Amino acid sequence: MSVKVRFAPSPTGRLHVGNVRTALVNWLFAKGQGGAFVLRIDDTDLERSTKEFETGIETDLQWLGLTWDERYNQSQRFDRYEEAAARLKTAGRLYPCYETSDELDRRRKVQLSRGLPPIYDRAALELTDEDRAKLEAEGRRPHWRFKLEGRRVAWEDLARGHAEVDTASMSDPVLIREDGLFLYTLPSVVDDIDMKITHVIRGEDHVTNTGAQIEIFEALGADAPGFAHMPLLVGADGAALSKRLGSLSIADMRDQGYEPIAITSHLGRIGTSDPLEVADSVEALGQSFAFSKMGRSPARYDTADLDRLNAQSLHGIAYDDARARLVAMDCDLGEGFWDAVRPNLGKFADVKDYARLVNGPVTPVIADPAFAAAALEVLPAEIGADSWSAWTGAVKEATGAKGKALFMPLRQVVTGMEHGPDMAALLPLIDRDRIVRRLKGETA
Ligand code: GLU
Repeated sequence: MSVKVRFAPSPTGRLHVGNVRTALVNWLFAKGQGGAFVLRIDDTDLERSTKEFETGIETDLQWLGLTWDERYNQSQRFDRYEEAAARLKTAGRLYPCYETSDELDRRRKVQLSRGLPPIYDRAALELTDEDRAKLEAEGRRPHWRFKLEGRRVAWEDLARGHAEVDTASMSDPVLIREDGLFLYTLPSVVDDIDMKITHVIRGEDHVTNTGAQIEIFEALGADAPGFAHMPLLVGADGAALSKRLGSLSIADMRDQGYEPIAITSHLGRIGTSDPLEVADSVEALGQSFAFSKMGRSPARYDTADLDRLNAQSLHGIAYDDARARLVAMDCDLGEGFWDAVRPNLGKFADVKDYARLVNGPVTPVIADPAFAAAALEVLPAEIGADSWSAWTGAVKEATGAKGKALFMPLRQVVTGMEHGPDMAALLPLIDRDRIVRRLKGETA
């Protein structure tokens, strides 16, 4: 059986790390096995969905390297949902209800006060044709509920193992609102059948839905696909991330300078037994992905981990691959420069700070002018590959300083900073005149 999965975002906002993790795990699972990835835009809610968000979703997925093999909009498929609804009505599985939300609220309160579970009491099933005609004459429009069988629905979940939902403990779900809007539950099942989806992979907040949806698959005469429900993301503090997800949009992360491979490596590996290291490519990440590596506990999203992976991804970029980006930032100072600075990058844009060390202006930090003067005296006449060791050797001889007391003041005078790229690699990139001026205390 060839694997086919779908990512089904509603275009009502930008993608954030939570829904991108769902997209990614679908993609990794499918691509790791040579399967297909479907992008399905869940835009049945025409009021809340926008084309702008839809385009944003595509931009973000493409930027992350999560390409799709097929693409659909639910808003183009209403006729299929109508057909399915008609079939369920004929089978007596979809029934009209007329309660207002106030009435339902009141009933729930009564149930709760009696210690009963607040599930829909199916009063609408008792209505006669006459009752319905009367309600409609009053101007009421029906919403439609799916009649659950009220049984234990079980499946082998790829992420959770044996899973069960007792649909007797749930309200019959509303599939069609009174204004005719199809809620997500039915279209999703119809699409999964039509598109021959083999596995539905989503967050564990959908486990209860799955119980009802498996019943709908069966009521429509289809076999339910496989399911995987992933543990949700929590923050570094262990608290649920759901409230904070809005501030973790992929678009913002792109603006902040995160590399796509750092984001995908991070989101693809947190909560798994794989080491949190950056992958060579998102394809390689797919090769190593397996649900058996995913734990049952929530996946901890820690920005410090992402920062580390981001740095790691930059350190591994060869000059030829970095070049176009360096040129675009006006920072292409050659392979020697790139090799000198890449181990120090946290974000790619840090190259700008390091290019300044080479081309100025740098305001030197000089704690001991006599030391700087002595260092100037013995600065090699020509700056080349071995100059740093020759120079530090000479300064040591001249001043008696050694270790940190030798290296730190020289670094500070040449770069104005306490930390930075390896001085042996950096020094030969800087004009001798410029070094001289900095040793004299000038901004150069
Ligand atoms: N549009 C639904 C959501 O974003 C899709 C859920 C699913 O994958 O079935 O929650």
